[in-house]
Amino acid sequence: MSVAANRAVPIRTRFAPSPTGFLHIGGARTALFSWAFARHHQGTFILRIEDTDLERSTPEATQAILDGLKWLDLAHDEGPFYQTQRMDRYKEVIGQMLADGRAYFCYASKEELETMRNEQEAAGLKPRYDGRWRPDAEKVLPQAPADVKPVVRFKNPIAGVVTWEDLVKGEITIANAELDDLIIARADGTPTYNFCVVVDDLDMQITHIIRGDDHVNNTPRQINILRALNGAEPRYGHVPLLHGPDGQKLSKRHGAVSVIQYDADGYLPEAICNYLSRLGWSHGDDEIFSRPQFVEWFDAEHISKGPARFDFEKLRWVNHHYIQAMDNATLLERLQPFLLKANVLTYGYDALAIVGLLKDRCSTLLELCDWVQRVVSNPQVTSEQVAEHFTVANQSHLSALLAALTSVVTSAAGWQREAIAAAIKTVLAEQGIKMPHLAMPARVALFGTAQTPSLDAMLSLLPIEQVQQRLAHAK
Ligand code: GLU
Repeated sequence: MSVAANRAVPIRTRFAPSPTGFLHIGGARTALFSWAFARHHQGTFILRIEDTDLERSTPEATQAILDGLKWLDLAHDEGPFYQTQRMDRYKEVIGQMLADGRAYFCYASKEELETMRNEQEAAGLKPRYDGRWRPDAEKVLPQAPADVKPVVRFKNPIAGVVTWEDLVKGEITIANAELDDLIIARADGTPTYNFCVVVDDLDMQITHIIRGDDHVNNTPRQINILRALNGAEPRYGHVPLLHGPDGQKLSKRHGAVSVIQYDADGYLPEAICNYLSRLGWSHGDDEIFSRPQFVEWFDAEHISKGPARFDFEKLRWVNHHYIQAMDNATLLERLQPFLLKANVLTYGYDALAIVGLLKDRCSTLLELCDWVQRVVSNPQVTSEQVAEHFTVANQSHLSALLAALTSVVTSAAGWQREAIAAAIKTVLAEQGIKMPHLAMPARVALFGTAQTPSLDAMLSLLPIEQVQQRLAHAK
């Protein structure tokens, strides 16, 4: 049975990034999975910005997250909600919890807590708050010091366990004895991270929480607070974090840069999404699939329990697939910003034909942009290339080619690929040489590189005046 099939309530998922950095590739995957889960179940996908860490959160990071999600086309149905705008609500809940004894003031000073920790460590115990301000039955609390501003602690259950059936990891059980009475409000009254998450998940009626497994430790604490608030428990699915190709946790050095950087580097958002969907989730051996197909297939059962490895070469392969499968007009449209940025003007050229011929050999739009530039610009031929390719013999072959090509223009067939190919053949025969002897120097003279698709196809992309001008320069 599907994980959602036994639920009468509509599915609601959320992506809840902290705007302390860019939306990196790992965060994007979490967003993608939460989005796909909601879409698969015709549910609602909510965006929540967890910006309560005022020192580390920045408006630029929030904007980068919004831009990244937009670029990936992961549209939210509700939000974005900002935690900083919900402070009154958190304080209201804290007030209620204090009033009915689900939370309490703790006056222990920093020094006291430090002494407590040192003593516990010295005794070989795991450091934890000893509950000295916890108002248990028949316990006499010390007199509250007038000069200390208290924190608020959650009265975590002392006995028993917290168990949840994780959508990814299966059953997880943590003993309450392992959990502290968590601080839910600091001395200045500001609510803490785990508490805000619970109030939000509750108020936003989240049914499925899909997030990185760096949050597993938070989950039993959050579940206890949720139970204290009589909230319906969502299902949790903790997705293993991404690793680099070397098996280490994914870092910047592995490509864990902002997703927007992938845009600038010439990756297509649909390729990034396709690639990300396979990072830790699978549908048999399928590698390339459309977005509707992904939404139809996506389930939590096939999220893998082990960490997925980020493989740059595979990402390039997926991107290459999307580039070469894209129709030329759309591809050219996607390429426009790159051409503009690189100042590549295609006026006088058939840009669609250029893109159509060269997309096959490009893994990124940047590479395709470079190719278009090669075709429409005067070639940059190095002195090494001149020495290697423009030998006296080659120059006379190129002159013969130039003459033959010039007559193609006025022939009945006109300047088109088949006629160009026939002219090349004639030159080869007349000069008594093989194709590489002609094609290599011609490519260098025309495009500044000896590696291009077939010469006739490449020539057909150039206006004859350009061919004449470039070949004439091959000296
Ligand atoms: N704000 C947390 C983060 O960026 C995510 C919290 C959650 O998904 O529960 O890691």
